[in-house]
Amino acid sequence: MVKVVKFGGSSLADATQFRKVYNIINADHERRYVVPSAPGKRFAKDTKVTDLLILAYSHRNEADFDDIFDSIVDRYNSIIEELKLDYSLADEFATIRENCLDNASFDYVISRGEYLNALILAHYLDYDFIDAADVIRIDESGNYDAKRTDPLLKEALAQHEKAVIPGFYGLKNDGSQQIQAFSRGGSDVTGSIVSKCANASLYENWTDVSGFMIADPNIVKHSQVIETITYQELRELSYMGASVLHENSIFPVRSAGIPINIKNTNRPDDSGTLIVETTCHKPKHVITGIAGKKGFATVTIEKDMMNAEIGFCRRVLQVFEDHGLSIEHMPSGIDTMTVVINVNDFIAHEQSVLAGIHRLADPDKIELESDLALIAVVGRGMKRSLGTAARVFTALAKDNINIKMIDQGSSEENIIIGVRNRYFERAIKAIYKEFIIKED
Ligand code: ASP
Repeated sequence: MVKVVKFGGSSLADATQFRKVYNIINADHERRYVVPSAPGKRFAKDTKVTDLLILAYSHRNEADFDDIFDSIVDRYNSIIEELKLDYSLADEFATIRENCLDNASFDYVISRGEYLNALILAHYLDYDFIDAADVIRIDESGNYDAKRTDPLLKEALAQHEKAVIPGFYGLKNDGSQQIQAFSRGGSDVTGSIVSKCANASLYENWTDVSGFMIADPNIVKHSQVIETITYQELRELSYMGASVLHENSIFPVRSAGIPINIKNTNRPDDSGTLIVETTCHKPKHVITGIAGKKGFATVTIEKDMMNAEIGFCRRVLQVFEDHGLSIEHMPSGIDTMTVVINVNDFIAHEQSVLAGIHRLADPDKIELESDLALIAVVGRGMKRSLGTAARVFTALAKDNINIKMIDQGSSEENIIIGVRNRYFERAIKAIYKEFIIKED
């Protein structure tokens, strides 16, 4: 069996973290392929190496370039020294410094954080090093090119029993030999691709929290961790703002039926969160998670006999489409329809959208409100239990929170509620109390 282990930046920020990673990998001989990020923050006000590289790139023609570059070199050298490794990256630093000054591309420069960290980690673990540039192909929008990557990567993995593969970058897929990076946080994507090509039984994603919280810990202090979540639930929650894995990291493993385990490098014995396609595992609570976002506007359109006018909704929606605006929800009544939309996207086009609706749909009245927060209550357990919606509404009513909008997805795995922005945090706390604290 093979496990692929990806370590985020905070898990490899300094020598102490490297030691933890060493122990984790050596505790399980199935952990054969390792994907590291660049060194992250060691303390709250610290700067990630990737951010230092971005700074170096933008200052490459300025006097302080050397100081910035030296601070990057120091980060790596202090790891090497503190781990007492008989190893030097001096030649690599010299090449990268020279390339930076010689107009190397942005993607090349920012990818060096992972490259250098992977070299150190491979040496420390005594694992082989596979350069991501040799095995990962990425298109110009930053998406992984499976057709070109998979054969290269599978062949390389077959030749190395144990290897470290830097995250976050590969080569462009146009044969140009240029480095192309994923978007920020993209080492998650590399880990997922390596898991798929290694036919892994598990993709372990090691970070600095013991899994996904049921609710945002900034709102619900000491929120419990989600033990098991399906890919679908995760998608609903991340869409509603729960910051989890890089969005593109789900597809490669999901398509190959490989579960992801989110684990905490600082508390390796915690079981973390397991993300699976489907499961018989009975959820501990009726709901799996709560997430939400503030900052939505509603455009309510009224017209007598709207329900009898064929094509009315289409004409209204056409206006939003023509302005490139994406619609979140669309609750409707007999003679009204409401379009819920991100307020920041909408505001730039507001008057032109209103004029367009008047022109195309000839409504009696249009009303705007810009004070809506949306909260998603998500859980596969909701399908089987009666009264979930009633419990959500009662919890909010008891806390004097007025519900402006309700929408239940047809999968019955989520209920979306709209409340005024100012009730957002209170509403999440009330729902958490009803479903998590009371059920325990
Ligand atoms: N180092 C990159 C970043 O900071 C990629 C990653 O950590 O996944 O975004």
